[in-house]
Amino acid sequence: MGNHLFDLIRARMPGPGARFALLDDGRSYSYQDVLDVSARFANALVGLGVKPGDRVAVQVEKSIEALMLYLGTVRAGAIFLPLNTAYTPAEIEYFLGDAEPAVFVCDPAKAEALRPFAEKAGAKLETLGVWRAPDVSAGTLSDKALAASTSFADVARGPDDLAAILYTSGTTGRSKGAMLSHDNLSSNALTLVDYWRFTKDDVLLHALPIFHTHGLFVATNVVLLSGSAMILLPKFDPDQIFKHLPQATSMMGVPTFYVRLLQDARLTREATKHMRLFVSGSAPLLAETHREWRERTGHAILERYGMTETNMNTSNPYEGDRVAGTVGFPLPGVSARVTDPETGKEIARDEIGMIEVKGPNVFKGYWRNPEKTAAEFKADGFFITGDLGKIDPAGYVHIVGRGKDLIITGGYNVYPKEVETEIDEMPGVIESAVIGVPHPDFGEGVTAVVVCKPGAEITAKGIAGALEQRLAKFKQPKQVFVVGELPRNTMGKVQKNLLREQYKDIYA
Ligand code: ATP
Ligand code: MG
Repeated sequence: MGNHLFDLIRARMPGPGARFALLDDGRSYSYQDVLDVSARFANALVGLGVKPGDRVAVQVEKSIEALMLYLGTVRAGAIFLPLNTAYTPAEIEYFLGDAEPAVFVCDPAKAEALRPFAEKAGAKLETLGVWRAPDVSAGTLSDKALAASTSFADVARGPDDLAAILYTSGTTGRSKGAMLSHDNLSSNALTLVDYWRFTKDDVLLHALPIFHTHGLFVATNVVLLSGSAMILLPKFDPDQIFKHLPQATSMMGVPTFYVRLLQDARLTREATKHMRLFVSGSAPLLAETHREWRERTGHAILERYGMTETNMNTSNPYEGDRVAGTVGFPLPGVSARVTDPETGKEIARDEIGMIEVKGPNVFKGYWRNPEKTAAEFKADGFFITGDLGKIDPAGYVHIVGRGKDLIITGGYNVYPKEVETEIDEMPGVIESAVIGVPHPDFGEGVTAVVVCKPGAEITAKGIAGALEQRLAKFKQPKQVFVVGELPRNTMGKVQKNLLREQYKDIYA
């Protein structure tokens, strides 16, 4: 038995001299470097006593070395467990206690603050910074890797062995550890390479974080398994995007990337005419953003839908209509259906219900949480995503929001997206979040939180008034608030739980 994921990466590698990454500091990484440096990390981990199945938890800044640590962990047969760089020491304490990693790798600057938590969890603490210069130490693990050999005999791992545990974004509650196997990752990446037509001639502009499925698995594994190259940027910065855009063929982003680039005068048809593909995901892309992007650049953004637990489930087509406001078709090999949230029975096309998915992309369960795993899987193997949506007659999947965000007011269901869509279409409005908060008579009161364009003359009263003509009474917000911005997490997801907390007493 070989190493399922890394064997595939190896098998699909272009010549060793081919470029894998171009870095913002001008350094360039070949596929030979990928082999060499990931071997160094694998050797360093084994030297630390890491055994097959051990977790290697990592909270480090985005860097090419962090990606090589991911590959080194996979080659060593261990389980890569990246953590959001925004997590505070108290949060890290929770994750280390939950994951019980053999090794915890953190930023050199955070080592002293985090050492007690690593010790408490029984993990060896190592550090990894960005390798700025060959002779400057970037951390203890970097030093060990630099001293280690560039050859490594990959540890045998089968398709069902775990390659990673990724915590969910924590948008709806405490983050859960999703156990992802070698085959979960490889099968999904191969499907995406094909579906999105990635070849070794592609250059992906990579400005996403690498602790999340989007930047780590969708972006990185697609590049690796197509033998293409990436321009690895430390973070999303429009200046950097426009600087590197001429060398790129494709970009993957969260909706906020696209919204921010649209605010920039440098975004023109000319600047993007050589591009092959723009992909969006991780949060809903407003139909208006899709339309504006198409008008400005001539490109239809390709929106897809995935989750930490499932990798990617659906995608708009490469050829054919990329329909704004939809997430496209189930990917090849993925089955999707919509069920009645109460009865669990499949419902008709075009009716809104719970989206369920099944396929080789779907994870092995929640880490150390068999009850939750059992609760989220149906007897026939379908995973209950927690997202509400429908499949239209043409087969496109529409997401209308999360089950947890559904508002039940006076016994009626209100889908926040329906109300948000009405509000977002009003002149002067940028975006909105509609939430349910406790209400003494109705159970929940529909409440709208709206962000307006600078200088717009629109008021909360005006918005409420306009909705009276457009929505049934029970769907109309009982209160409307105009705010400067919506709370978002690092993936650009609107944190409705924070809004519900903030407004919880307004009807009391
Ligand atoms: P948690 O599960 O911890 O509350 P989370 O669900 O935000 O956090 P992720 O796994 O990062 O964690 O996100 C998956 C979710 O993101 C999906 O369930 C869906 O709600 C949303 N999502 C992803 N892509 C899209 C999209 N294109 N359109 C709408 N929603 C999307
Ligand atoms: Mg989730």
